[in-house]
Amino acid sequence: MSEEIVNLTESEKSLNFIETVIEEDIRNGKNDSAVHTRFPPEPNGYLHIGHAKSICLNFGLAKKYNAPCNLRFDDTNPAKEDQEYVDSIKRDVEWLGFKWNGQERYTSDYFDQLYEWAIKMIKEGKAYVDHQTSEEIAAQKGEPTAPGIESPYRNRSVEENLAEFEKMRAGEYPDGACVLRAKIDMTSPNMHMRDPIMYRIIHATHHRTGDKWCIYPMYDYAHGQSDYVEGITHSICTLEFEVHRPLYEWFLDQVYDGGHRPRQWEFARLNMTYTVMSKRKLLQLVNEGHVNGWDDPRMPTISGLRRRGYTPESIRRFCETIGVARRENIIDVALLEFSVRDHLNKIAPRVMAVLDPVKVIIDNYPEGKIETVMIENNPEDPESGSREVPFSREIYIERDDFMEDAPKKYFRLRPGGEVRLKGAYIIKAESVVKDSEGRITEIHCSYDPETLSGSGSEASMRKVKGTLHWVPAHAAVKAEVRLYDRLFNDEAPDGHKDHDFKEYLNPDSLRVIENAVMEPSITKYKVGDSMQFQRLGYFCVDSDSTAEKLVFNRTVGLKDTWAKEQKKN
Ligand code: ATP
Ligand code: MG
Repeated sequence: MSEEIVNLTESEKSLNFIETVIEEDIRNGKNDSAVHTRFPPEPNGYLHIGHAKSICLNFGLAKKYNAPCNLRFDDTNPAKEDQEYVDSIKRDVEWLGFKWNGQERYTSDYFDQLYEWAIKMIKEGKAYVDHQTSEEIAAQKGEPTAPGIESPYRNRSVEENLAEFEKMRAGEYPDGACVLRAKIDMTSPNMHMRDPIMYRIIHATHHRTGDKWCIYPMYDYAHGQSDYVEGITHSICTLEFEVHRPLYEWFLDQVYDGGHRPRQWEFARLNMTYTVMSKRKLLQLVNEGHVNGWDDPRMPTISGLRRRGYTPESIRRFCETIGVARRENIIDVALLEFSVRDHLNKIAPRVMAVLDPVKVIIDNYPEGKIETVMIENNPEDPESGSREVPFSREIYIERDDFMEDAPKKYFRLRPGGEVRLKGAYIIKAESVVKDSEGRITEIHCSYDPETLSGSGSEASMRKVKGTLHWVPAHAAVKAEVRLYDRLFNDEAPDGHKDHDFKEYLNPDSLRVIENAVMEPSITKYKVGDSMQFQRLGYFCVDSDSTAEKLVFNRTVGLKDTWAKEQKKN
């Protein structure tokens, strides 16, 4: 034990501020030196990359300190919540590689306890039922610089409050008729302390408690108390809740009766360029059809990133890289793209695919002959071996890998010029055939039979400037390829006053290529598998893919060309 503490102290320099706090608490024996965190999503939408930061932090701390981390659904608003969201959140947390402590929990598990504590507070004169409209209550709140006005219902008797709260609970009032408020201080400089609402009436069926309740606790009341029920020690949330902390403490003071006393700690939320990061806005994109669902590969949701081909490792790595601090900042989305590119470079097998095919006919290659060439699967991974690719007289190359009037620095194929076909022969362009509109339909080439890659012959060592990927025509597999660009063409889509974030949607964020061709080994991949299409980028098999029609998503390009292109425009 003592040895461990010494080590922790030595490594303190590299700790983030929450780790520093935790290690201090452990040393001081706070909460019997226990550590217990939680991740508390509201099931009112799918998780996004910002949530991943919170997940990696809470579950990461648990892992580091060998402590439990709960998954708790903050399900206090039946009007907006749904089982579909619960299921997606569980799937996403698991996919990111984390295991929560025991069963998942729900704030609704504690509705009885929260209700009892509310009764206790009423009995102690700490809460009252207010029949004013929400507008009246808001108007009385006042300004931070001026005291608020006390509600005319503020000084009702305990008996009356108990009776009114019971009527609320029993469904005798419609939505909005009254609320239960904590009786704190209408003159507090902290607006959250000016008699905040604890319960409101919502006549809606709850996804778990059905119609048992028609009063629902507010976040500020439910959250800290749920932390307390679960024995949470470090309740980590984003900075905007810092001003709620006195209220969090006040509510705890009313019920604390031994055991772990949770403390709220705030960190800076993740903001990212070219991205909106609020469930409410993401829901709008889904509902208004700007994207094809929560898991659209252009969405910053975890399910969207997964479908796009992001790996859990790359997302965890990204979260590690950005770190945890208390200062607000905006992360360049290119960093997220870098982390997936970096990971896929190490693990993704290489495959040849041609997105915009033009036919090449090798006139001096024997008709009907098919030979097999061997191509390495992944030069970054010596274990990955090689694969067989059939080679024949007719192949496809990318249309823009041939140019009739090529500039000097063009190292691809040109009339009279030579290139190497990846893993195969050196070919030389001899002539072209065009259709009536002048579009090239065939490029006729010759090949040098002595130049087969890896054959060891002197001619095979001959250097030519360009190497092209190719697909054998006789065995080409047709596929659809979806190329994605950023969903927004503005760096801060929700940062413009008087402009809706949707005005900045990129109209070209999805481009579908219907007739790409691929080498035959492509058929062995399953939905979700990632691969590199050589020279083109990293791709994965989309969930729309079937045996009849293969569909691929581009995860990310090979290089960060975005910044360069932005400069050009
Ligand atoms: P949104 O603003 O997108 O609706 P939220 O905060 O309402 O998100 P919750 O389901 O309440 O969503 O969030 C669960 C947890 O995730 C909270 O602890 C919250 O602080 C954290 N979280 C939400 N967004 C971010 C973000 N951008 N960066 C880091 N943590 C976040
Ligand atoms: Mg929230």
